[in-house]
Amino acid sequence: MASAHFSLAQAPAAVPGTSAGSLPSLGETSELSAAAERRIGDRIAASIYRDPDYIDDPVLDDYLQSVWLPLVAAARTRGELHAELDERFAWQVFLIRDRSINAFALPGGYFGVHLGLIGAVGSVDEMAAVLGHELSHVTQRHISRMLTQQSRQTPWMIAAMILGALAAGKSGDMASAAIVGGQAVAAQNQLNFSRDMEREADRVGFGVMTDAGFESRGVSAMFEKLQQASRLNDNGSFPYLRSHPLNTERIAEAQARVQLASLEAAKPSRDKEIGTGKALVLHAIMAARARILAAPGVDALRSMVAQAQRRGTPAPLQSPASADNVRDAGTLYAGAYAAAQLRDFPGAKSLLEKLRPLIAADMPQAASTVDLLAVEIDLIAGVVPSTAASVDIAKATSRAEVLTQARSLMAAHRAQDVSNRLQTWVAAHPKDAMAWQLLAVAYGNQNQNVRAIRADAESRAAQLDYPAALDRFKAAQGLMRSNPGSADYVEGSILDTRTRQTESLIKEQALQDKLDR
Ligand SMILES: [Zn+2]
Repeated sequence: MASAHFSLAQAPAAVPGTSAGSLPSLGETSELSAAAERRIGDRIAASIYRDPDYIDDPVLDDYLQSVWLPLVAAARTRGELHAELDERFAWQVFLIRDRSINAFALPGGYFGVHLGLIGAVGSVDEMAAVLGHELSHVTQRHISRMLTQQSRQTPWMIAAMILGALAAGKSGDMASAAIVGGQAVAAQNQLNFSRDMEREADRVGFGVMTDAGFESRGVSAMFEKLQQASRLNDNGSFPYLRSHPLNTERIAEAQARVQLASLEAAKPSRDKEIGTGKALVLHAIMAARARILAAPGVDALRSMVAQAQRRGTPAPLQSPASADNVRDAGTLYAGAYAAAQLRDFPGAKSLLEKLRPLIAADMPQAASTVDLLAVEIDLIAGVVPSTAASVDIAKATSRAEVLTQARSLMAAHRAQDVSNRLQTWVAAHPKDAMAWQLLAVAYGNQNQNVRAIRADAESRAAQLDYPAALDRFKAAQGLMRSNPGSADYVEGSILDTRTRQTESLIKEQALQDKLDR
């Protein structure tokens, strides 16, 4: 997920650590500089990439981006995201394989979203409410102010502390919570936002999400969910409640804001699959996918299949989509994907066919998601997807389409088509680790070994593992020297440049680490 598709097109690929050497390091100043905060964030991000619970699912990722990018753009237009922060920070969201309902902001413009949040919210607007709030913690420099209060700690210690708190916050992971133990609890108390910061993030986040074209009632719906959970004392599956305690004041302010917004002239709607019913169908499908990718266990998968089979023939599609249509779409997608996970492939396909009539002609994103699931079911089954012979990957546009079709074509031994498409893709999205990884395989299948190793190196660099990247860049250089015909002049110069760049990055990082310890 590390990728240019995350970092905003406007932001130059800010190389972490560069030009930071001249800036005061943490502790020497009362204000944490954006560069210093980004360094702490990069350290945390590098650990998240190595965490087995980090998940890059291109389908959910595209969906998340369709919420995230309008929010960031709105913050920029409103003047809350100013140019320096825009360029310095990552503005990147990590998906975390965790069933609990949580989202959080990290230093340096990194954010985390648990699969449980996507699976639990009822609409894209509720998701926008949460993400707008988290985004505003960062644009309002709450993180920086909070970290400044920790100025007696070194950046290394702060990064370790935040990672400890993250591990402790994972649901059902008592082991790691116990390991970090009291230290993490203490850390979490120190790392909580103040009540004033929460109110400010509520206020700014509301403006951001409504300006981005989302429905303001997403905020009240989310607050109702949180309130219900806190009444049930359901903090275990709602870690979001621990970091965002509800109080009557916050709730009253949010309700007043939603009321006021509904009285004002409606803001122009974002170009989404709206008509509300359409957006809800797409969301139901994405929420179903999130619940399955959160690895709920065999029993839960079986019950999803059973539930989908019980639906029989779904009610015909209404315009706009009815509540029944929305529910059926989610249930059938969940059933089809769950059946595939349980290796009942004919069952998966038949549920998927029942889902198709619920996707209207004017729901292209939902339609593409259903088509991709058909491909995915074949890939899980280990057969060449039926569409692989005819698909034109040059026409694939979304990240999910490009990467899923690439896997499909690899299965059909069309490696050259894959490398042609992915070469263009990584040129535009140089931080897309998964695309580089697939490109490495595609080159390997064509015996272009120097290119294959370099693509592998790039995928490591995209996930901030510079030593591993350097290792592979050097291996590719070695291969080229021992076998002069193995790559052309252009490839050789790119390789030399990237090797030098990575070497100096590692040197700078080592220097900075000494200062930060
Ligand atoms: Zn908050």
